[in-house]
Amino acid sequence: MLHKSDISTSELLKKHNLSQTKVRKQLINILKNSNVALSASDVARQMPATCDRVTLYRNFKTLVEKGILHQITINNHESFYVLPQIDSKTNENNTEHIHFRCVKCSIVQCLHSSPIESINLPEGFSKLDTNFIVYGTCKNCNTISN
Ligand SMILES: [Zn+2]
Ligand SMILES: [Zn+2]
Repeated sequence: MLHKSDISTSELLKKHNLSQTKVRKQLINILKNSNVALSASDVARQMPATCDRVTLYRNFKTLVEKGILHQITINNHESFYVLPQIDSKTNENNTEHIHFRCVKCSIVQCLHSSPIESINLPEGFSKLDTNFIVYGTCKNCNTISN
């Protein structure tokens, strides 16, 4: 079973030895309250106007490196962020899964019900990353058009 981590934002930062900055807390809370993955500019729009954009973008990088955020790259240049789901059996972040991209409204969502079991590479090959995206239209867009 997968669930959203119920750890508080300050505990999360403490666990990864990161200082409790206002920007980090606001950034994580915005993603906590979202059901879909958000781009850095989506988050920036929800941040207070006083927040420095350079600081914000630097924090995305740090939080991804620490594994606090799960980054999804679409078409090699668009990045979306989400708080990773935690596997209750292993207590590890579940990052190997398929993503869905709506071609109408551009939302990106993790498909945790479609885990990637195993990928067999030819001998001598090594894996860097996996990136599977299903393109289609989301429930909202399908409802509007009907
Ligand atoms: Zn849509
Ligand atoms: Zn995902």
